[in-house]
Amino acid sequence: MVPMDPHTSLPAEMLHHRVADLPAGVPIALPLTPASTFALPGTTDAPFTYGRAGTPTWSALEQALGLLEQAETVVVPSGMAAISAVLLTHLTSGDRVLLPCDGYYATRSLAERFLVPAGIEVVLRPTAEYAEQDLTGVALVLLETPSNPGLDLCDIAEVSARAHSAGALVVVDNTTLTPFGQRPLDLGADVVVASDTKAPNGHSDALLGHVASRRPAVLERVREWRTLAGGIPGQLETWLVHRGLETLELRVDRMCTSAQVLAERLTEHPAVQSVVHPGLADHPQRELAARQMARAGSLIGITLADEDAAERFLAAARLVVPATSFGGVHTSGERRARWGDAVPGGFVRLSVGCEPTEALWQDLDAALRAQS
Ligand SMILES: *Cc1c(COP(=O)(O)O)cnc(C)c1O
Repeated sequence: MVPMDPHTSLPAEMLHHRVADLPAGVPIALPLTPASTFALPGTTDAPFTYGRAGTPTWSALEQALGLLEQAETVVVPSGMAAISAVLLTHLTSGDRVLLPCDGYYATRSLAERFLVPAGIEVVLRPTAEYAEQDLTGVALVLLETPSNPGLDLCDIAEVSARAHSAGALVVVDNTTLTPFGQRPLDLGADVVVASDTKAPNGHSDALLGHVASRRPAVLERVREWRTLAGGIPGQLETWLVHRGLETLELRVDRMCTSAQVLAERLTEHPAVQSVVHPGLADHPQRELAARQMARAGSLIGITLADEDAAERFLAAARLVVPATSFGGVHTSGERRARWGDAVPGGFVRLSVGCEPTEALWQDLDAALRAQS
């Protein structure tokens, strides 16, 4: 994988972003500040006025995330809030939008339930075919690479260049990799949307999302949307994600390193029919993965004999929490067919957590042997 040289100092800058010049006696940790209204003696010209427009806790997280993204950032209450804020503020009746048919299911449901009835034409295509897609007349392209759970890729730089010639805005859902795994804005995308519910928080106890862009007009619309539509992040959730972010680089490093080791060993396992992971030599887009991604991610798709074998494996694995979602400190896994994903009944998506690599391997190996 590509080394992340130009950005190695970002985690350090992010850790120290607000502690550099603290006066004596002030807490090093970010204070949690519950507040709906702020003192405005004789003026409304203040950094904070009313809690729906802005708070010190949002600002602290936006600065930290903005450092990692190297772009202005707006925090919103969830990943879906980030996606809906961008789609609903940038599409209007008569527009055409391209979405992945193999991406996060709620994005497709949002399009079907709210964009189509508003007169927006929704085109769905597989992630791996984005680069060949005719983009004439498309106003906005949303891409998700690696796709989830298939882990197919598309070339962000190429799609961005082609979309820009067609006059389209390029939005990348970067949830699966985080800025430490992939930097879509550096590759030419206009906007990053992400669910911080996953790895950035990492502790399975808060939902949050963000939108990042180097185009001020895009963020101005999103910020206005947040204030006027009124769906706003809670202060506790914001504070928890700010805290989670402080260990994101460490956790992503452990999770991705373990995922690579486990994916390679699972490929050799007699009980496993097939393994998909962008870091494997047999991934169909191996070369693109090496060029575009700093890390191959913490998700692994494994296919076992059938639904029964997969359920027995999940029941036997002591270190795999049976749960949906991913990016948490606990390794988790589930059969994606139970949600209707277009995958075989025996397909299990594993989200590799922060446990020691060898402990995880021993547990997976024992659970696979028990059901084979
Ligand atoms: C989880 C997820 C979302 C939605 O995030 P929430 O915080 O649950 O709203 C969006 N995109 C991807 C790729 C996700 O994995």
